[in-house]
Amino acid sequence: MPIYEYLSESPGEPGFSCRICTKGFELFRPIDREALVKCPTCRNAVRKVISKVSSPRTTPAKPFSTSDAKKAGFTVLEKRDTGVYEKM
Ligand SMILES: [Zn+2]
Repeated sequence: MPIYEYLSESPGEPGFSCRICTKGFELFRPIDREALVKCPTCRNAVRKVISKVSSPRTTPAKPFSTSDAKKAGFTVLEKRDTGVYEKM
């Protein structure tokens, strides 16, 4: 599920934006739902800033290991001498 980042249309304007949308907030939202147009708390107009694939924000990224990939449900393929890919 993608994460959408929203930011107030008028950040920093007293009386318009709450602390949440002034700083910007992230929202998990199904891709088939329309974009959020109002802050859920203060009802101020917000706009979508970034949409990205949901992934943990770890820097530096952990090395991608075969066992991690398998745990995540990936099918791990390894190249063999014959040039065919064998399902592990
Ligand atoms: Zn707000």
